Amino acid sequence: MSNDEGMTIFEKIIRREIPAEIVWEDDDVLAFRDVNPQAPVHVLIVPKRAVARLADATEADGALLGKLLLASRQVAEKLDLLKSGYRVVINSGPDAGESVPHLHLHVLGKRALAWPPG
Ligand code: AMP
Repeated sequence: MSNDEGMTIFEKIIRREIPAEIVWEDDDVLAFRDVNPQAPVHVLIVPKRAVARLADATEADGALLGKLLLASRQVAEKLDLLKSGYRVVINSGPDAGESVPHLHLHVLGKRALAWPPG
């Protein structure tokens, strides 16, 4: 989903060039509602520093990956998911259905989620 300049839609959201419903943010991470929600709560969490996908992460990204997981817990607390439960998903590459080449965690909650995923 890169545009002609090679900037993904998530980079544009991070730069506030296109709107999104932001639910949580710190210096390194931005969380916003998915435009096509698959559950009553469906939030995306992205690093502000672009990493294309989990498969491209390196040792140097270790702290950032930890921050993303901790951010998912912050989002879950803010949106009242801690007790009912929630799922965190990362789609990396074609077989997983990755559609935006900027690493993102999906946080899904407020309904019972089937397992295994499709
Ligand atoms: P993935 O398939 O894991 O790459 O997930 C990409 C997600 O980005 C999908 O769930 C889309 O619905 C979501 N998405 C695409 N464009 C936007 C946007 N402008 N604002 C919020 N979410 C978006």
